[in-house]
Amino acid sequence: MKFRKVELKDAMAVVWRLIIFVGLEIMAAMFLLEKGLMWIWVLIMVGLLTWIVNWHCHYFGYECDKCGHKQQIDFLKEFYTLNLFNRKYLKCEKCKKWNRAKLLVAR
Ligand SMILES: [Zn+2]
Repeated sequence: MKFRKVELKDAMAVVWRLIIFVGLEIMAAMFLLEKGLMWIWVLIMVGLLTWIVNWHCHYFGYECDKCGHKQQIDFLKEFYTLNLFNRKYLKCEKCKKWNRAKLLVAR
């Protein structure tokens, strides 16, 4: 797996997905909440979040701040680890140290 630096278009790809996410959620809320179909709305939200997180962990990788090892993470790790803008608080799979790993694009 090769990695490259994050460019503006990658940031835009994230922004676009967030806009789609928020837009769809607001539209779904207008249709569903007044009909009392809250559970469908929650289902749509979970589905969209899964889609974005899944996309994010395939699109991006992380570089260890301590040893420079580059890795991709799985869906669950993507979900429960802390995001720090363009970094992520991660445990390196090589040197096993917790570090502020740098965000990279996987290709
Ligand atoms: Zn490391």
